[in-house]
Amino acid sequence: MSSNNAESSPALGPQQHYLQALADRRLLLQRCAECGWHQFPPRSLCVHCGAGEPDWVSPSGLGTVYSCSVVARAPEVGGDYNVVLVDLDEGVRLMSHMVNHPEGSSLIGSRVSACFEPGPEGPRLVFTPVEEAA
Ligand SMILES: [Zn+2]
Repeated sequence: MSSNNAESSPALGPQQHYLQALADRRLLLQRCAECGWHQFPPRSLCVHCGAGEPDWVSPSGLGTVYSCSVVARAPEVGGDYNVVLVDLDEGVRLMSHMVNHPEGSSLIGSRVSACFEPGPEGPRLVFTPVEEAA
């Protein structure tokens, strides 16, 4: 740790911390040490109780699709793609992209798991369907 360049390199903010973990193919969420609240996007305070510096935890990655929409795009730039909102079991909602699902099937309400796929700017967080024992 160097202290003489504090101005040019401020301490890693919550958003940078989150993105740096993603670049390592790790999904992190914040969990408040005081009240146990999980939150996303990352902030420096718990939005639930106001306590400072929430802990970082690794969620299960499991969740349920809350909504899904298809964005139309020309075939020459990759074709249509979907955008999903996923409610993680920890209680936070993430916007992402669904992979490995049957074309045309309804995704809403389906169980999914977080995974990573290579993207142009490094690993990209996506979701894939999971079959769960009843
Ligand atoms: Zn809290």
